Amino acid sequence: MTNEAWCRVRETLAVRIGKNNYTSWIEPLHLTALDEGIARFDVPTTFFGDWVSRNFSDHILALLNAEGHQVGRAEFTVPAQASAPMAQKPAAAKPARVSAKRRTDDELPGASLDSRFTFDSFVVGKPNELAHAAARRVAEGGPVSFNPLFLYGGVGLGKTHLMHAIAHEIQLRQPHLRVLYLSAEQFMYRFVQALRERQIMDFKEIFRSVDVLMVDDVQFIAGKDSTQEEFFHTFNALVDQNKQIVISADRAPGEIKDLEDRIKSRMQCGLVVDLHPTDYELRLGILQQKAELYIAQYKGLQISSGVLEFLAHRITTNVRVLEGALTRLFAFASLVGREITLDLAQDCLADILRASDRKLTIEEIQRKVAEHYNIRLSDMIGPKRLRNIARPRQVAMYLAKQLTPRSLPEIGRRFGGRDHTTIIHGVRKIEELMTSDSQLNDDLQLLRRLLQS
Ligand code: ADP
Ligand code: MG
Repeated sequence: MTNEAWCRVRETLAVRIGKNNYTSWIEPLHLTALDEGIARFDVPTTFFGDWVSRNFSDHILALLNAEGHQVGRAEFTVPAQASAPMAQKPAAAKPARVSAKRRTDDELPGASLDSRFTFDSFVVGKPNELAHAAARRVAEGGPVSFNPLFLYGGVGLGKTHLMHAIAHEIQLRQPHLRVLYLSAEQFMYRFVQALRERQIMDFKEIFRSVDVLMVDDVQFIAGKDSTQEEFFHTFNALVDQNKQIVISADRAPGEIKDLEDRIKSRMQCGLVVDLHPTDYELRLGILQQKAELYIAQYKGLQISSGVLEFLAHRITTNVRVLEGALTRLFAFASLVGREITLDLAQDCLADILRASDRKLTIEEIQRKVAEHYNIRLSDMIGPKRLRNIARPRQVAMYLAKQLTPRSLPEIGRRFGGRDHTTIIHGVRKIEELMTSDSQLNDDLQLLRRLLQS
């Protein structure tokens, strides 16, 4: 009888509040009792119950009364089997925990983890030791001491690898925690999809219910206003609940253009660590580790001494390229059944070696610096002496001197035929400012990284 009344109420509601609202919020309601002036419903989560209560309970009550039931109140509870195991958890975490139990893993909108990206397979060297230590600390759990952990560095330096390693480790040590890893692009995609399908409350709930949120390549959301907004709120909600957040980007928070200031400053509140470009030792270490795996895999394959050193020396771009080179080398050697010698490496990897040989040009430096300071490339070589043009020009001169083998007169020629003494002056000026101007130092570091990656 009650159920029949409830069925009619639902039909009317479907018309009044619209199909989408109906499917999202009314259909999952389960009427369990209707007595003593109270309508009782089972709901999947506390959050869900709150939402329905705030938005639809008036409708529901009015319609039930119109059906002849005297009800003054609606109550929404999460059924016992869902909430019981969590009873000992702090109240604030309850809604999240409840949905965690009910939701299966494949409903988490994260990306899958690469099983090869673990701490074991991560080679530690000077350029990445800080990032590695911070990642370890987060993965070991314990009280959240810095939030977020912000990892940044150029392409292929191991950001994604470290993030996956953190996720693996946490899942190993604390399997009850909900770890959500995804790229900023996927975050945006999910967000837009939720908007389109009017499931934004579900979206919010999922993202606010995780214990560890990891967002890779966050620079992607720069300039995407509503996604940034949503990200900011998700971020704050999790930080408020003392949940760990790990973010990566290709540059420092302050250097991401079109990222809202409030997000930048939130990012800077945690621990910001960068992965520096690899050095020779790290590259060699990585190659040795991978080569061992391959030697085990391609049984009987020999590698002459000096080959790995040669590669570590010559391929300086990034680890991804380095790995690609080794993979190809082993595949090729096993195909032709030959020992991996220096000659074989040079033949087989000619294109990669040539690309790595590519020398940085003064023109590229000028272009990147102009871009960074938002001035025209033509002003780099032009005669303007305004500070906001002259300073970037001097930065470019300084970098040209540092990063290319060109002589001062040569550099002068590329800067609109300036005299070599002007170049000396520019280089000195920057060197002098560097000692006191930390912004300039940051700029130089970023530019160097961009130019050398
Ligand atoms: P990013 O996300 O910074 O662009 P990735 O984490 O995807 O870089 O790394 C690119 C490749 O290089 C991956 O295959 C990764 O396993 C490998 N790699 C990077 N750094 C290391 C390291 N220190 N030790 C072992 N492998 C590494
Ligand atoms: Mg990555």
